[in-house]
Amino acid sequence: QWFPAAGDLTLLVANVLALLSLGVAARRRQRRATYALVAWVPLIGLSTARAVQLSAGTPLTPMIEYGLPVVLAFASILLVLVLADRMLTMRRERDSAQLHAERDALTGVFNRSGIEQRLDWSILQTRRDERSLSALFLDLDHFKAINDGHGHAIGDACLHALVRAAAAEMKYGDHIGRIGGEEFLLVLPGSRQREARDTAERIRRSVERDCAEVAGVPVALTVSIGVAQCRGDDTVASLVARADQAMYAAKHAGRNRVA
Ligand code: GH3
Ligand code: MG
Ligand code: MG
Repeated sequence: QWFPAAGDLTLLVANVLALLSLGVAARRRQRRATYALVAWVPLIGLSTARAVQLSAGTPLTPMIEYGLPVVLAFASILLVLVLADRMLTMRRERDSAQLHAERDALTGVFNRSGIEQRLDWSILQTRRDERSLSALFLDLDHFKAINDGHGHAIGDACLHALVRAAAAEMKYGDHIGRIGGEEFLLVLPGSRQREARDTAERIRRSVERDCAEVAGVPVALTVSIGVAQCRGDDTVASLVARADQAMYAAKHAGRNRVA
């Protein structure tokens, strides 16, 4: 005897609490709480009326009888839309997090782990398709002196200038990443050593020619570039190490050159 009355009372209290908390959240401008409120107000209104009518023992009106399935359907559709909206937001957040995880914040190119992953895939593809692949290791010359002489903002502008010069020589499918302070790696799938050297030489010349002044400051920017072609047993580490060695050879030979 007491059980239906207790059940109805619990439902009523729960309904009031749900409406109050949704109302508070909606007032705090939580968009999804507003949607839930819109979906639930008719549902809660009708189910409350039904509970009251049942406990009073009066017969159900057609409005309450047939209205309840309608508002249930309405609430379900609205909540599904809210859920879809939430999933879309989460997907955007995931994509943006992924982008930030593999991009260098200053220059916008891949960061170290991003470019190493691209190089890893490129080595696998190169092996599978029996194509060639080369890597360029770029290091700005006397960059510390530029920072010390003109400040870090000009140093940063030089990093941007180098990326622009390199990007201008890149083909579709090539990748560039920043692997250290002023050190960049260019991955050139499909390029043999000679073509890679030509690309490197064009980048070197364009930096020498176009970056004599950066942001109006005479910095005489130059870059040393090491070239290495991928061999059959190369890994990311061994290929980058050879390109790095070649870059050091260019430094020892007097900088502003390709080796
Ligand atoms: P080398 O010709 O032998 O390469 O000499 P270098 O001066 O270019 O090389 P070194 O390794 O001595 O100096 C690298 C400098 O790069 C030191 C550091 O202050 C600077 N650097 C590293 N990251 C950044 C950055 O994000 N912005 C700026 N402006 N400078 C940076
Ligand atoms: Mg360096
Ligand atoms: Mg340097």
